[in-house]
Amino acid sequence: MSADNWTKCPKCVASAISKWKAKCSSLEQSYGKMSASEYMSKHLELQSAPCFEDTLREDYEQGINDGVYSVSYSGSCAACGFEYQHNFSESVHAPLENKEVNSNNS
Ligand SMILES: [Zn+2]
Repeated sequence: MSADNWTKCPKCVASAISKWKAKCSSLEQSYGKMSASEYMSKHLELQSAPCFEDTLREDYEQGINDGVYSVSYSGSCAACGFEYQHNFSESVHAPLENKEVNSNNS
């Protein structure tokens, strides 16, 4: 079973928020140093937080094969190149119930 999906890139989101905060801080410091209309215009621009697009492509699959459960995930951002991978696998323990074990003895 495999799937793919697009979601928000954690690196792009963190970067955009950081830049937005820097612009807000810069605007605060420029209060009184620019015309009121210019200040209000920039203030309006920064009133809404940045919106984010789904730039991170996710590919993943999981399942049990030959008694081993495994999950494989990879994400790659089309905008900034950020990549993340995670792989995990373990043997599946499927103990027989007592009824099944004893049924051969009766
Ligand atoms: Zn990114």
